[in-house]
Amino acid sequence: MTGFHRFNIGGVTAVTINDGQFARPAETFFKDVPAAEIEPVLAANGLARDAVPSWFDPLYVDTGQHKVIVDTGNGPERGGQLMTNLQAAGIDPADIDAVMITHAHGDHIGGNTTLDGALAFPNARYYIGLEEWDYWTSEEVLNLRPERIPFIKQNLLNIESAFTFVEGEVEIVPGIRAIPAPGHTPGHIALVVVGRLLHVGDALHQPLHAEYPDWIAVFDTLPETTPVTRRKLMKMAVEQELLVYGFHFPFPGYGRVTPKGDTWTWQPGM
Ligand SMILES: [Zn+2]
Repeated sequence: MTGFHRFNIGGVTAVTINDGQFARPAETFFKDVPAAEIEPVLAANGLARDAVPSWFDPLYVDTGQHKVIVDTGNGPERGGQLMTNLQAAGIDPADIDAVMITHAHGDHIGGNTTLDGALAFPNARYYIGLEEWDYWTSEEVLNLRPERIPFIKQNLLNIESAFTFVEGEVEIVPGIRAIPAPGHTPGHIALVVVGRLLHVGDALHQPLHAEYPDWIAVFDTLPETTPVTRRKLMKMAVEQELLVYGFHFPFPGYGRVTPKGDTWTWQPGM
């Protein structure tokens, strides 16, 4: 597997950085979908029911003004390959000045810090939705899974002063705009990059969610909001002719969606 993939969006350099790969049963991504409905779809897409492959695809963007990484992957403790593959791509973490977090699940914030708890991107502002921060750092949510507290401390609370909180639809740095995209988590954000690429984060966890926006993944905190957000994002992608990028989509993570009936089909590539 290639460690990184360089591509161009409207004259701006982007690089998909491979942080790793995993496979889970189809029920993980398409919960509560009857077998008769799901099996032909999986077969038509060459997917095995017991092991649907998934990737971790942090995205690097150099806008000319800013060097940005979107999501930091699993992190050193959990085998994340981000640092190794940034180095392979010739990108120095010290040059990155903006770290944007789509949401605070472990596979998106684990690389915020190094093993000893220092900032992995020492010269960067870190950006996250205010609602997302408040949710995951609330005592109520922390106490649901106390074993996660040290991880949340290390990658969020201990480095709070590095963070800037994002509210509503806002331009984080020139050329990169945050779009509220709740459902997968309460304060999840999507990002529009230079008016050309829509990073959907985990709003769509698998490309088939474009065609089946009502098929919910087990990871979603607000399953009734997810389909609404997916439809909003897919409409936006079509109307604005945006390349669509998903954090867990097959490497290198991007493709196009086109309307099909009242949903969309996915085609990987430019
Ligand atoms: Zn994820």
